[in-house]
Amino acid sequence: MRNVNRPDIIESDVVKPNVIELRNIFKRYSSKDSFVLDDVSLHVKNSEVVALLGPSGSGKSTLLHIAGLIDSPTEGSIFFEDEKTENLADDKKTSLRLRKIGFVYQYHHLLQEFSALENVMLPMLIAGKRRENAKEKAKHLLEMLKLKDKIAMFPSELSGGQKQRVAIARAMVNDPVLLLADEPTGNLDPETAQSVFDDMLQIMKANQMSAIVATHNYDLAKKMHRQCSIEDGKLIER
Ligand code: ADP
Ligand code: MG
Repeated sequence: MRNVNRPDIIESDVVKPNVIELRNIFKRYSSKDSFVLDDVSLHVKNSEVVALLGPSGSGKSTLLHIAGLIDSPTEGSIFFEDEKTENLADDKKTSLRLRKIGFVYQYHHLLQEFSALENVMLPMLIAGKRRENAKEKAKHLLEMLKLKDKIAMFPSELSGGQKQRVAIARAMVNDPVLLLADEPTGNLDPETAQSVFDDMLQIMKANQMSAIVATHNYDLAKKMHRQCSIEDGKLIER
């Protein structure tokens, strides 16, 4: 469809589709507990990066696990690229997660017995991609994350910031449409956090990735397109 005011713009460029939509999500961990998420709705459009703020225990990780189809809501629906996910069989969910979603956690979770390069290649190999392609892609990402001369090193030989950079490359190697990052720089000193964060954002932008990034840090949150916070189970757009 053409935009009437700007015939050179295709409508789909203007109205970006939702990558993920959480619709009326409720979550409680057991029937005795109160709701951690209490009627939360959130949509993230193509190439949109959303900051998720909130104090410890407010439900940020819970929301990210639900968005990443790792955990199920007590009630509510999740649409991924406009497709309802709740009736998907487990193997379909796993495949969708592997192909389309990348995760970065506060702790790197790298495999100690593998080099940086091998750690980044792994998700591509698991997805059935050719070894040479995986190697090339992993190298490229590690270079973009300023680890060109560290690719053969093992996690024990890398600093905290460098390990997080490897974890970010690993999350991005299958070209996810959605990156979910749970306080990805939360364990780093402020200066390192800033530089790792900036490089992560730059690659996300260059690849038009969408993301939800949980953080305590308002300065980092301001660099994203939108800021939301969870307060008493409710999601508030700031
Ligand atoms: P945040 O990531 O913002 O620190 P979480 O999502 O980890 O918050 O936790 C939100 C609330 O849910 C907390 O009160 C926490 O204790 C509770 N919670 C999280 N995971 C579980 C679980 N697996 N079982 C029971 N309660 C949980
Ligand atoms: Mg958390």
